[in-house]
Amino acid sequence: YTQARSLVYPKHGNSSEVLSLHTHSIGPPHSTLVTLRTLSAPLNPADINQIQGTYPTLPPFTNTLGTPQPSAVPGNEACFEVLAAGSGVKSVKKGDWVIAKYTGLGTWRTHLQVEEEKVVRIEKDGLRSEQVGTVGVSVLSEYALRDVTLDLFFTESLLPTLLIAQRRAGRIIANSGFIKVNPVTAYRMLKDFVKLNEGDWWIQNGANSGVGRAAIQLGKRWGHNSIAVVRSRPGEEGEKLKKELEALGATKVVTDEEMQQRGFKDQVKEWTNCGRSPIKLALNCVGGDAAMAMAKPLSSGACMVTYGAMSKSPMRVGASMLIFKDLRFSGFWVSKWSDAHPEEKKRTVDELLEMMRRGEFKDTPMVEVGWDWGTEKEVLVEAVQGTLEGYRKGKGVFVF
Ligand code: NDP
Repeated sequence: YTQARSLVYPKHGNSSEVLSLHTHSIGPPHSTLVTLRTLSAPLNPADINQIQGTYPTLPPFTNTLGTPQPSAVPGNEACFEVLAAGSGVKSVKKGDWVIAKYTGLGTWRTHLQVEEEKVVRIEKDGLRSEQVGTVGVSVLSEYALRDVTLDLFFTESLLPTLLIAQRRAGRIIANSGFIKVNPVTAYRMLKDFVKLNEGDWWIQNGANSGVGRAAIQLGKRWGHNSIAVVRSRPGEEGEKLKKELEALGATKVVTDEEMQQRGFKDQVKEWTNCGRSPIKLALNCVGGDAAMAMAKPLSSGACMVTYGAMSKSPMRVGASMLIFKDLRFSGFWVSKWSDAHPEEKKRTVDELLEMMRRGEFKDTPMVEVGWDWGTEKEVLVEAVQGTLEGYRKGKGVFVF
């Protein structure tokens, strides 16, 4: 029997109120079941929204772990090691590494037992790999790649998650798989809403988010100028972040305070050659007043695409923006887009992968949260709570 600990929640709500740490044991796997040990699992904003019950897709509450009430396990991504496999299991064996094939597996736990078809093996050894800067980046085997690109849901946190797992296991970072949702989101939003020509401008808030960082890099690659809006930080932190985003490819980096100052309009005029180079697109991660401030410098007929709502505030659109400037307000959800455009999704992912292979893409910074048998619930819940709290040094990842 394997002893396991799992974060669980019996109802939707605030992480600190609904999450508990549940201990249970897992029997030996029979037929097509596999027992897995978690190596690393990232914390994404959407995971928190699922706990809150505000995300469009929600895992069901069940009795499978023997919790006092039917419960769900949070988390959608992870890298696991196979501890044992049932006699009917064909695709993986003890010692293999696997990742979740679909969303909703519930990954914030030390161990789990699932049907083999819910996971896909990733190669640990013998894959093509390339050294990119100081970090080794490589790709899944051709087999996994084909399966993965179309069927799996990944965010940009998967690559670092796998790299961390590899490091923990004492391996040199050599190979791992990654297909990203955040870069796909950034890619489609830059391409599908307005036609940006070379030299045109676009603007975004939450520019240091995973999606924002991907958009900066893609926009730069395609010859567009960008204004990256971030929240201000005290002292050197702010300057450091500015430099970081400029190095990624942002043309200008401003804080939301600077954007709301009077002189900002003139500043933008100067940058855009008195408006002759239009600002055609805004990508909105934040919502609320911050989003509306970003709408002001947009050119006539421009489009604002909302993909996140980090401020949790609604947007109040002034009538003049619609009547006199004919601004368009749209939204984007990559899951829905991917379902509707499987072929296009594959092409997008392939193109992104090619860029990544050539080392033309930088990862989002990660912050490791250690989770061993003795880790208190409070430590874990604090990390979960922090995911939506902002001003973080990087994306959280549980490391086991
Ligand atoms: P990250 O965790 O990488 O980044 C979060 C960002 O939100 C940071 O820029 C952070 O800024 C900002 N932020 C946090 N709290 C606030 C706040 N109260 N007010 C303003 N800004 C805040 O996130 P991801 O890139 O993974 O996701 C960003 C958003 O995009 C999420 O809402 C996510 O759900 C959404 N998303 C949507 C997709 C879609 O298809 N629509 C696809 C992928 C992601 P700071 O550092 O200053 O705190």
